Amino acid sequence: MANYRTENPATGEVEKTFNELDRDGAIAAVERAHTAYTQWREAAPEQRAQVLRRTADLYDERADELARTIAVEMGKPLKEALGEVQLAGSIYRWYADHGPYLLEEEQLDAQGAIRSVVRKEPVGVLLGVMPWNYPYYQVARFAAPNLMLGNTILLKHAGICAASSSLIEQVLDQAGLVDGAYINLFASSSLIPDVIADPRVQGVSLTGSEAAGASVAEAAGKNLTKSVLELGGSDPMLVLDAADVGAMARTAARARLSNCGQACNSPKRMFVADDIYDEFVDRLTAEVEQATVGDPTDETTRVGPMSSTSARDDLHEQVQDAVDHGATVRTGGSPLDRPGAFYAPTVLTDLTPDMRAWSEELFGPVVMVHRMTDVDEALEIANDSSFGLSGSVWSDDPEKAAGVAARLDVGMVYVNEHGTTLPGLPFGGVKRSGYGRELARDGMAEFVNRKLVRVA
Ligand code: NAP
Repeated sequence: MANYRTENPATGEVEKTFNELDRDGAIAAVERAHTAYTQWREAAPEQRAQVLRRTADLYDERADELARTIAVEMGKPLKEALGEVQLAGSIYRWYADHGPYLLEEEQLDAQGAIRSVVRKEPVGVLLGVMPWNYPYYQVARFAAPNLMLGNTILLKHAGICAASSSLIEQVLDQAGLVDGAYINLFASSSLIPDVIADPRVQGVSLTGSEAAGASVAEAAGKNLTKSVLELGGSDPMLVLDAADVGAMARTAARARLSNCGQACNSPKRMFVADDIYDEFVDRLTAEVEQATVGDPTDETTRVGPMSSTSARDDLHEQVQDAVDHGATVRTGGSPLDRPGAFYAPTVLTDLTPDMRAWSEELFGPVVMVHRMTDVDEALEIANDSSFGLSGSVWSDDPEKAAGVAARLDVGMVYVNEHGTTLPGLPFGGVKRSGYGRELARDGMAEFVNRKLVRVA
């Protein structure tokens, strides 16, 4: 089957296929992006900002079309899809508004010279390798700051996101971007090392699985090319207390079921204080059971299908392994008996370290809940993970929660919210969740030449 295709996960039908580039085609794209770089780097910061601002406007103007496209290709319910389009647009706007001053020279103490300054200059052509779970947002996080810097972009999107990927390129073109400054690379993963090896490619950023990250980092390392990796997570969420346990359970269910549970920073492991645990699990289970599962293009759907039947089957193997080792299924626990890649929203309790689910990422609509009898012990379990993306701590006493949150070994912690993503907040993890940061001013600090200019 063609790798670049639109395959509706709600029906299993392949609606469209796209041509794939061969090696020569991929290298020709590098050449085009490099030619574009020689022009785009000369554009004044305000001119680049204008293109990003127009891109943001187009995300608003074309929101319905953009949202419907991802609902059909990766199964995101329409309301969430519209939210993603709006978020992606806001990222382009944020860099349009803040980019020009972030690019201003930094004056240093002259230290004996007439002046010493640091200029922020682009580095060249960058390769982005992006996943399907937030097709617009993931690309915006990488493209907006780097286009603002004056870099140009080759974008290898997930095979199942060919349609939204085509729209992203089209929108940037419509916004007036220099030809070749953003090019979709519909190429097989096996060609990625060749693209990275091209000396015109000066950096690579991948969002995706650990396996893909390791492969890209290996190719980057061999070529001494800088890389940024945004990988998986198994975020802990610690509930220390809650005056309103029902509201807490509703919030937790919504957070975990968002995007059908297919978010790197979804609260996959919940640790709930002993005295509210039983009520919390009952209410959470009721919330999860009430979530309407269905066609993502139906406005009433809260949980769509997973992205593919193979992803659904992988998830079920992990759930089945937990059950085989003694986990309790409070609800769900199996694929739904209907066409498409649907999995029943699931709550698991009584988890133990011998289960795969204890240490692996569950990338689907499965909530795992642990009874927390001791906060120190919960922190130990939460931190005993190969991942370190984000985490949250919840309490009616936010300062108490902040003290606990500070002890999580992650790149982002939240108190009384989980995973809030805004253009002006940095995003990234530690440990096997990756390295480097996206968004905010940090997003413009990865692929930049901070050039010292000293005039004596
Ligand atoms: P994936 O298989 O790694 O796919 C992501 C991208 O990498 C796709 O474009 C894919 O292309 C490409 N790819 C796969 N293998 C490759 C290789 N060997 N060399 C080069 N490129 C390769 O990821 P996924 O499983 O679909 O996505 C889910 C994962 O991404 C989860 O682990 C999730 O937590 C993580 N994620 C992390 C973040 C974050 O910000 N930290 C955000 C979202 C998702 P094809 O589609 O053509 O295979």
